[in-house]
Amino acid sequence: MSITSSPMSLALDDRFARDLPELAVASQATPVDDPQLLILNEPLAAELGLDVDWLRTPAGAQFLAGNLVPDGTRPVAQAYAGHQFGGFNPRLGDGRALLLGSINGRDLHLKGSGPTTFSRGGDGFAAVGPMLREYVVSEAMHALGIPTTRSLAVVATGRPLRRETGLLPGAVLARVATNHLRVGSFQYAAATGNRDLLTRLIAHAGAASAMDLLTTVIDRQASLIAQWMCVGFIHGVMNTDNMTISGETIDYGPCAFMDAYDPATVFSSIDTQGRYAYGNQPVIGEWNLARLAEALLPAIHDDEDQAVAAATEVLHGYRPAYVEAWGEGMRAKLGLAAPDVPLANDLLALLHAERVDYTGFFRALSRGRARDLLVDRDAFDAWHVRWVAAGPDVASMDAVNPVYIPRNHLVEEALASGDVAPLLDAVTHPFEERESLERFAEPGTDEGYRTFCGT
Ligand code: AMP
Ligand code: MG
Repeated sequence: MSITSSPMSLALDDRFARDLPELAVASQATPVDDPQLLILNEPLAAELGLDVDWLRTPAGAQFLAGNLVPDGTRPVAQAYAGHQFGGFNPRLGDGRALLLGSINGRDLHLKGSGPTTFSRGGDGFAAVGPMLREYVVSEAMHALGIPTTRSLAVVATGRPLRRETGLLPGAVLARVATNHLRVGSFQYAAATGNRDLLTRLIAHAGAASAMDLLTTVIDRQASLIAQWMCVGFIHGVMNTDNMTISGETIDYGPCAFMDAYDPATVFSSIDTQGRYAYGNQPVIGEWNLARLAEALLPAIHDDEDQAVAAATEVLHGYRPAYVEAWGEGMRAKLGLAAPDVPLANDLLALLHAERVDYTGFFRALSRGRARDLLVDRDAFDAWHVRWVAAGPDVASMDAVNPVYIPRNHLVEEALASGDVAPLLDAVTHPFEERESLERFAEPGTDEGYRTFCGT
């Protein structure tokens, strides 16, 4: 189908496929008869220069489902490798997604568009529930100021898919990212042994050299993971194929926000060892970056020992960068003029001991109501004296401590009702307390809550 019904000329750039043909497999979305637009991110569409009115037409829905391909656009599935739960898989790739191309300098990607050469055992499809979940959580992350892929739209395909629980309605999520390069993209290139490909990939990522890339990604990921920790976000599947080079959060499968503060919190049903538990995320970030460094070694120096020495030195920068970013995040949460890591850590020990609602605590603190949340008042009072002595600017705190996050019980309730709009409204204005939304600020009970990958 051509895009002649479009009022605009849509030019999606195939820069990725041109620069890196070895990583791009031409692919097509599975045709769907009558896709229905379930949700559209109008501000994001406008940012990309897309015609909002046209996206709301049947042709627009066909475009968002991957069935109406603008002339000159070359959708591809991207190849990548990755360590999944610590084990290396040399060939993963987009098993249920397509890169349509880049538009206004950003990648437009369709998730759930049907099988590709990388589908392995999977069907290539996605269900409405998980795609709406990704839409809500990723837009909440963006509103919290945390780098993330964005969600442009979800279209229902009208095509049912089979999951363990039975038949589910199918959907395609249109998502936007700076790019879709992952640590696993570099692992794939390195595993081919093609030095020229690795060099082109580094250049495509906008880096001046392999060392430049490694240094930049270490900084971005240290900052990103610190921000996750500060809001209580658990990614859930930090495999190296789910860690971006851009420093954007990607792949909202089993992710979830923690209510009760506990570093051991795990929601993902397949993470039985707790590898990707909340408290492990900083160290897993470092492990993944070491895998990136390994992949880059041939491009760092011809002499392997020298390459390892140089890579190791920059990797040593990760921990201090993380601690600094986290300290800064906690400084702001506590309204302090300067970071105070012991004060922040001692607070977290208190919250952990009583499994206090993490998000709710900081709002209560700025309102002088935090004491009520703890049973051990003496311990709280002792900490509070230190906090007050540090001279907090209480008025600054609400701008960084959200009232509304996509809490698990709220997400489940919204998906069950089929109407995510009220929750989306709350979590995309997370710092703006509204009386009518009181319900959305209440913690739920996360005990036993389970999330799923590749759903
Ligand atoms: P994830 O860790 O969920 O990002 O997925 C790991 C790999 O599995 C990626 O290569 C995905 O493209 C692939 N995958 C996930 N779900 C499906 C599916 N339903 N059909 C085909 N491939 C899938
Ligand atoms: Mg993935």
